[in-house]
Amino acid sequence: MVQTKRWNVQTNKMAIKEAATLLKGGKTVAFPTETVYGLGADATNETAVSGIFKAKGRPEDNPLIAHVATKQQLGNLVSSLSPTAEKLIDAFTPGPVTFVLPSNGTCAFNVTAGLSTIGVRIPDHPVANKLLKECGIPIAAPSANVSGKPSPTTADHVWADLNGKIAGLVDGGPTGVGVESTVIDCTQEIPIILRPGGLTKEQLERVVGKVIIDPALANTSEKPKAPGMKYRHYAPEVPLWLVDGSPEKMQEIINDERAQHSRVGVMASTSTSQKLTADRIIPLGVDLEEIAATLYDALREFKDGDIDLIICETFPETSIGEAVMNRLKKASSAYLKD
Ligand code: AMP
Ligand code: MG
Repeated sequence: MVQTKRWNVQTNKMAIKEAATLLKGGKTVAFPTETVYGLGADATNETAVSGIFKAKGRPEDNPLIAHVATKQQLGNLVSSLSPTAEKLIDAFTPGPVTFVLPSNGTCAFNVTAGLSTIGVRIPDHPVANKLLKECGIPIAAPSANVSGKPSPTTADHVWADLNGKIAGLVDGGPTGVGVESTVIDCTQEIPIILRPGGLTKEQLERVVGKVIIDPALANTSEKPKAPGMKYRHYAPEVPLWLVDGSPEKMQEIINDERAQHSRVGVMASTSTSQKLTADRIIPLGVDLEEIAATLYDALREFKDGDIDLIICETFPETSIGEAVMNRLKKASSAYLKD
């Protein structure tokens, strides 16, 4: 057990300086980005990085994303940049996208889990950027949750998972996008999306033409190119069933389960929520962006003891809906289709 220092950036002028001092000293500190909260450590320090794996209980074969403040710092971590990679970096940084590029070995071995490539990103969040600038070193930062749980979108989520296990937590309020960065492999001629996320395929294609999605993401028998995508993630405390069907069909399932004494929770768009009756209903929002932003908080809201089963609506797999559905499929234990 360590004492976890918590700063509120609104009220504490020393927050960034003190957090940077801990990070430079090899400690782990959680901080907000525009996607989700990250758990940072000095990416050039193997011992510091191992602190991240330990606090999260993260499998060691799952590489971490190196976060930097500037394109120049990004360039310092890679051995080459293809013209396509440069185009994407120019168009979308800072932003919710991670570029997988050939590593030049500057970061510690455990950041890349021994791969020859490295995932690098420049977040678009004032607190993350000030902190990264103050540190002046690359910061390895996966999502600041216990492995397997939904990623944290508020400082309270981080606190619930990691208080006593990390040196610090910078509270910068709720994050914006709500799902993690899009991971895109730029080491091939045609870029490959390894994990759908905050930046959509459509946005990427507008800049570089064809972009493909790792076929393993749709086909469970293939091995995903991003090691982390093979793990079950985002699991709520109680089972979640995805239901692809009308509100009437959803209500039928809810009624059947309640008749068998299950307390049923619902996650659905605001309009579908208004048509349903259940023991607890969390409306996720009116559009896909809002649904992405509230998704992880909703997953954490259903507690074992209050609710026995979550019934969740499915959403169109377009734009950020691609990331939402990717996370929901991983969070669910059943997918009921007509
Ligand atoms: P997290 O930081 O927890 O959101 O997870 C980072 C994701 O990026 C995981 O799915 C990793 O497997 C993936 N990733 C990070 N670095 C690489 C890399 N060099 N090659 C492929 N995937 C990567
Ligand atoms: Mg994660």
